[in-house]
Amino acid sequence: MKPVEEIFPLLSQPRNIVITTHQKPDADAMGASLALKLFLEQFGHGITVISPTNWASWVSWMPGCNEVLDFESDKEKAEKALNNAEWLFCLDFNTLSRTKTMSEKLKQLKCIKILIDHHQEPDLESFDFGKSATEKSSTCEMIYDFIIQSGHSNKINEEISECIYAGVVGDTGSFRFPSAHSGVHHLVAELKSRGFNHTKVHEALYDNFLENRLRFIGYVLLNRMEVFYEYNTALIAIPKTDLLRFNIKTGDTEGLVNFPQTIQGIKLVAIVIDRDEERKWSFRSKGDFDCNAFARKYFNGGGHFAASGGHSSDALDVTVKKFIVAMKENKSQLQ
Ligand code: 5GP
Ligand code: MN
Repeated sequence: MKPVEEIFPLLSQPRNIVITTHQKPDADAMGASLALKLFLEQFGHGITVISPTNWASWVSWMPGCNEVLDFESDKEKAEKALNNAEWLFCLDFNTLSRTKTMSEKLKQLKCIKILIDHHQEPDLESFDFGKSATEKSSTCEMIYDFIIQSGHSNKINEEISECIYAGVVGDTGSFRFPSAHSGVHHLVAELKSRGFNHTKVHEALYDNFLENRLRFIGYVLLNRMEVFYEYNTALIAIPKTDLLRFNIKTGDTEGLVNFPQTIQGIKLVAIVIDRDEERKWSFRSKGDFDCNAFARKYFNGGGHFAASGGHSSDALDVTVKKFIVAMKENKSQLQ
């Protein structure tokens, strides 16, 4: 993979570009994709943003989101855009498998592939150009750097600022994780000095749910959470019946993982959700427990040191039993 800076001189020549990101895009994934789209459009490129799957309602407010194609439901249009693409930007994921059913199509494409990502252990072989920087708070921060370093800071408008800020807020847990380094605060100060309204973004991300989601959280915390004090670990396992009972949609479970972290002394939080196609795991840690290594070793996944995810084809009770064995194996790291 060659440095992303090598494409800077080529930015002003209009071409067909597809921007994609990981399945079930979160604020960082969608924010980075749309910020890059809104930036590149100013050069006259033809741009299509494709998400491998649908997305949460709390990212739908983002400028340009109404034009994003869902690879699963807009397949024909998405494939046509991919076939015509000269450049493919891959944002906020480290391996093509994070694009689910789209990954086979992406592997076949002969166009130039450009990675911009902050996850650990990226599959660099799959990309022609790019930047992988695990020290970055978010892919949105990297898109901001991309715009500044390519010499086009004058193209950052309110809409781009909203997208970038949303991803930074999302991936730093509203500036609380260690990943919120000084550069992140400089970035925000820079956006603010251009007149950017940050309150709007917080409300759009966090005050934008339906009543059922809050009732669901209350129910799950009361009935589905188990705390293993000996291991400083909290586990939530959510069966499909709960999702149906509360009419839970894509994105409604986001943020749930943060609640058990508020218990004194908890080092590891694990949540598993019984989705149709798989049991999806989320891990969060505080201190020196490596979630990326844990997700890779036991649950086919990965991510970051303090936040990772994985998946299993086992039934819910089986994968939960495997987790408990894994937790016990990691007792010394959890104390
Ligand atoms: P979340 O728990 O919010 O779904 O994911 C936390 C972090 O882990 C995110 O940065 C996400 O990209 C990463 N992640 C989640 N699931 C997987 C997975 O199955 N494989 C890999 N490699 N990373 C994942
Ligand atoms: Mn991210």
